[in-house]
Amino acid sequence: MRAAAFLDLNGTLVLPVRAGAPSEYRPVPGALAAIRLLNHLGFVCPVVSVQSRIEKGMFSEADFRSWFGSFVADASGQGAEIAGLYLCPHRTSSDCRCGKPKPTLYHRAAGDLCIDCRRSYVIGDSASDMDAARNIGSVGCPVLTGWSENALAEGASPDYIGHDIREVAAWIASRERSRSPNPVCLIPRQDVLL
Ligand SMILES: [Mg+2]
Repeated sequence: MRAAAFLDLNGTLVLPVRAGAPSEYRPVPGALAAIRLLNHLGFVCPVVSVQSRIEKGMFSEADFRSWFGSFVADASGQGAEIAGLYLCPHRTSSDCRCGKPKPTLYHRAAGDLCIDCRRSYVIGDSASDMDAARNIGSVGCPVLTGWSENALAEGASPDYIGHDIREVAAWIASRERSRSPNPVCLIPRQDVLL
């Protein structure tokens, strides 16, 4: 069983967070370096994303998946390995079974990728990410690059708040080294240091 860093997309890995088509999404500075570090620490990094604009008809799921494929390929080309997409295409208000903070997509990823959720982290910018973390027994780490005020305002009491995913990854690295007698990685290579 492996540990994961479950990554939110909008507001965590890419901007903008509300308006725009996927082709307008831009990586949050340092996001790929953060994934590289998480990979190097032994974490598998699936993306768990709600794209409610698909159900709203603003863009198609095929378009989104096409863009995401390019994003993953670009990331991989820079040494940041994303372990797949777990997507909810429904409106937030819909009564679907896959939206956050329900554990469905996280558990699906855990099954596919042999993930132990209790050794894992959820990194995201909203309360639903932090609630999902609690629901699956992982550590929730909000970032301030999106709508983190929601996570804070709703009393998510996260373990750690980072300005961005780069800070969160560094915190996870420090935490893992200090708590494990047999850490996955004691000394990151220079090329994965932030
Ligand atoms: Mg988000």
